[in-house]
Amino acid sequence: MTGPSVIKSADDLSAIAANPEHLRGALAQADPATLMLVLVTLTGDHGWLDRARPFIAGPSSYQETMPDTMRAEIRAALFDVLMDFAQNPRPLPAIPDGPLLVDLLSTAAGTAVGADYVAMMQEDLRPAAIDPRGMVWRVPPDPIVLAAFHVVVIGAGVSGMCAAIRLQQAGIPFTIIEKNATVSGTWFENSYPGCGVDTPNHFYSYSFEPNHNWSHFFAKRDELWQYFEGVADKHDLRRRSHFGTEVTSCVFDEASQRWAVSARRADGSVIELTANAIMSAVGILNRPKLPDIPGRETFAGPAVHTGHWDPAFDWRGKRVAMVGTGASGHQVGPAIAPDVDRLMVFQRSPHWVVPNPNYFGTVADGKKWVLANVPHYARWYRFQLFWAFADGLHPALQVDPEWNDPEHSINEQNHRHRIFMERHMRRELGPDSPLLEKVIPDYPPYGKRILIDNDWFKMLNLPNIDLITDKIARIAPEGIVTVDGTTWPADAIIYATGFQASKMLAPMRITGTGGIEIHDVWKADDATAYLGTTVPGFPNFFMLMGPNTGLAHGGNVIFMSECQVRYVMMALRELIEGGHHSLDVKPAVHDAYVAEVDRLHAGMVWSHKGVDNWYRNLNGRVFAVLPYRLVDYWQMTSKFTPDEYSFA
Ligand code: NAP
Repeated sequence: MTGPSVIKSADDLSAIAANPEHLRGALAQADPATLMLVLVTLTGDHGWLDRARPFIAGPSSYQETMPDTMRAEIRAALFDVLMDFAQNPRPLPAIPDGPLLVDLLSTAAGTAVGADYVAMMQEDLRPAAIDPRGMVWRVPPDPIVLAAFHVVVIGAGVSGMCAAIRLQQAGIPFTIIEKNATVSGTWFENSYPGCGVDTPNHFYSYSFEPNHNWSHFFAKRDELWQYFEGVADKHDLRRRSHFGTEVTSCVFDEASQRWAVSARRADGSVIELTANAIMSAVGILNRPKLPDIPGRETFAGPAVHTGHWDPAFDWRGKRVAMVGTGASGHQVGPAIAPDVDRLMVFQRSPHWVVPNPNYFGTVADGKKWVLANVPHYARWYRFQLFWAFADGLHPALQVDPEWNDPEHSINEQNHRHRIFMERHMRRELGPDSPLLEKVIPDYPPYGKRILIDNDWFKMLNLPNIDLITDKIARIAPEGIVTVDGTTWPADAIIYATGFQASKMLAPMRITGTGGIEIHDVWKADDATAYLGTTVPGFPNFFMLMGPNTGLAHGGNVIFMSECQVRYVMMALRELIEGGHHSLDVKPAVHDAYVAEVDRLHAGMVWSHKGVDNWYRNLNGRVFAVLPYRLVDYWQMTSKFTPDEYSFA
């Protein structure tokens, strides 16, 4: 079972001291660029950076091209340094600061990284044994006041678990209400064949609960689910949870300045709770969206949605129609293709897909050992992944108003990515394949969520696969009928058609001051919140993964959750330490933030003409995704400014 790893203290080199030969063997399986970063961190020897830099074209392991002699030198030098520290115990050097850190970051990323990353990386590069993102009281709270305080956390997925752990660490009483039978949210709910994460796991895990034993660089669903179950067990979250229970409404009572929370159990019975504060961690990708296609109900065979998979659904030997080719479709299709009689893929629009050499790769045992035992390695590796999968891509999302081919790409980097992905398609399908014109998107890269895959195009070339791009006219009992009149006979249908993302917080009813319901504030699904977290008129109501906090170009929602939870914990501290009942974000603060989000989005790919995605609402406003770099959001959520709130 893969759970969180045992966290060792930063200076614990006992495993290294005990087994030098194991260390040598393990170093041989770890990434030389990351080992070099560790070496410089431990020695301060800048010379290694200068020597290795020309061979590090980017943060990914496959972008490192050092000569073997240099790799061997790095490993040997690091071996000696580690053995010296292990045999002559003394404190390890601290994470460097200032120009050396910027140089390390830039070499690790293969490109210039700004000094504005220093503060965040000083925090993130610390060993997991030091957890700087937890809330620390400035004044010890009165135990009686604290015991009387109560937070309801709605949802025990990735964000809700993070919230609960931080509340527990701070000693704030809380109750979790979760509609599913267990924790993990999305990784419990999604169980379709091929389901897994497309952010590398050594980054896609809680910063304070690393797992050095991921079997793959990109884990599949069961392993992810086990990880989150393990974190819940380690922090004993279940005893404070009501599972199989769905919150139906939260009403703010102005007289008591508390929330009344109603929830319904699976058996229909109702529970009522009161709370000083609510942390809503309900996610936005958990209510499956079935397509509004005429005749859908008439289909004679079984039909499933990827987000609500039926374990009894059997595709083997059948003619299967799959509607939708987004992130879920791209995983289901290749997973079932070898076993179906025929797979008919109904693609409404093509998606940009990037190959990744590590996508299906397993993590070598030696590398797992290094992650667990060599100081700084796991954290440097995490930074490299952060850069490759998040902020390093941010410039590719910005529209260059001078760009001369705005139909196809939006700036030079974006264009380079387009060429790279097109080349991948041509290589996989063949240079003259008639499928090329169907699969190459006519919109710029990143306009829809970027997908990773190494198998999709190979799958399309299989003899038992049809790629159908004609519009679906209707669904008949015997199959799918396209607008040209063709009937595609099918025994079963898979809907990989996404989620009802735009109705944030629905179907819950959240009523704030003056009896206003939040969906009446967010007219036409136009959800907004300051930092994606607080809404004027809804005191002490905090959203995690709220409006404009999703990530579409890569990134890591766990990182976002940790930032938001930290911010909310600081808000709660302000409330409790200040002896206040409630805090409510000032409308002007909220409005200015939303205006800035909109201004940034106007110059980004998701608003670009010709681009269609689920990040925009009925008004055409980008409501779902973050326009900022992760470092910006980290900075914005690293402090709580009382002046931005009204207190009661
Ligand atoms: P999605 O990205 O919204 O894709 C839905 C697909 O269904 C699209 O191809 C869409 O076509 C198509 N579609 C929708 N309605 C249709 C209709 N009426 N007729 C024909 N086609 C229709 O949904 P998803 O794949 O479930 O992914 C949703 C989100 O979940 C992702 O963006 C991602 O954030 C997350 N996710 C992540 C992972 C991962 O990490 N590996 C895996 C799965 C999901 P159009 O493009 O034309 O709209």
